[in-house]
Amino acid sequence: MTRDSRIADTLGVAADLPAWLQPPAVLSGRKRLALLGGTGSIGQSTLRVLRHDQVRPFETLGVGEACGAGRRFELYGISGHGNLGALAAAVQEFRPQVVVGSDREVARGWNACCPGFVGEFYEGPEGLVRLASDPAVDVVVAGIVGRAGLESTLAAIECGKVVGLANKETLVMAGHLATDLAERTGARLLPVDSEHNAIFQCLLGAGRKQVRRVVLTASGGPFRTWTVAEQASATPQQALAHPTWKMGAKISIDSATMMNKALELIEAKWLFDLEVEQLQVVVHPESIVHSLVEFVDGSVLAQLSPPDMALPIQQVLDFPERVESPAKKMDFLANWSLNFHSPDLDRFPALLLGLEVARRGGSCGVVLNAANEVAVQAFLDGGIGFTQIVPICRRVLDSHPFEAYPDLRSLLDLDRWARQETTQCISKP
Ligand code: MG
Repeated sequence: MTRDSRIADTLGVAADLPAWLQPPAVLSGRKRLALLGGTGSIGQSTLRVLRHDQVRPFETLGVGEACGAGRRFELYGISGHGNLGALAAAVQEFRPQVVVGSDREVARGWNACCPGFVGEFYEGPEGLVRLASDPAVDVVVAGIVGRAGLESTLAAIECGKVVGLANKETLVMAGHLATDLAERTGARLLPVDSEHNAIFQCLLGAGRKQVRRVVLTASGGPFRTWTVAEQASATPQQALAHPTWKMGAKISIDSATMMNKALELIEAKWLFDLEVEQLQVVVHPESIVHSLVEFVDGSVLAQLSPPDMALPIQQVLDFPERVESPAKKMDFLANWSLNFHSPDLDRFPALLLGLEVARRGGSCGVVLNAANEVAVQAFLDGGIGFTQIVPICRRVLDSHPFEAYPDLRSLLDLDRWARQETTQCISKP
């Protein structure tokens, strides 16, 4: 019996979950973290968790004093993109040994911004890979949004790290490669995405073989009640105004089209190694029930909490333990209700794309993701209307040369092809 399986048995963790969801080996001492995407929404929530772990809270420190390492975690490295001020503030507070400026602006401005920094500074996508593969790192929080997070997440998996996976695109684009690689290297892929984290929690101790279906909840986004005609004239500002979650621009638009849920269906299929027929989406406007698992006997387990990413991040960082968290708590005595209804596929056709891509697999995920990234940016830039995003993705997906098991090089070629094709679709509708 291996050490890991002993830990699993002791904790009652489902032995039939894939290898990458098993509890990591228990470490002695603090876990050293690499936070990729430290200035984004996941990054800032991760810093909240780390702040809560400090022996002395930030508020009690004097000017220029750093928190440094916490009780359970040490921020070993952090990357920032497009927000030098937020990166410098995090570095000043947590004093990591490695900093990565993943874009040129941050890399250029770093020395002038933080002249006293004595650690290592890396630049660009190579810098992200270097930090993710650093032998000193125990846990990599993959919090970069979109295709930009792929190589660094794969590098972390290749090095057998514990990966807190918020970059769903790694599984959408390269689910077959990422899971095969994790099985070979012993890396863990623990879901930070709130729905998948909820499913993960529900499966612990219950097992996967007895699952009848997994139900992902969706808030429905800001256009939940809008007709197609109303959506057609939606502005970026309206689409960015998510009713329950505060997130970055790309994922907020994906929530408005429900493409986010489409990508999450693909993510769930790979992460939990389930049949697509076992996956279902239900609209739940309150974003309190983060997902549900129904077992063969009809029992349904759900995970509930106020919408706050600090909770899934901490669950993953501390797994298999549970620790007091800074996340908002439920107030059961307040007047509240939970509503569920079926998604309207005529108004939100992205879900059909998600189911189809999850079913077909192969090269479909990388193409859908690339087309959607380009189309969302075009919408934000005022180049196309809101209701053109999903039809453009459909066109590019239908015209792509399907491959059943593309390797990484083919995937990256297809990613480039799909971006060009989408740009052409947008310029010549
Ligand atoms: Mg999610």
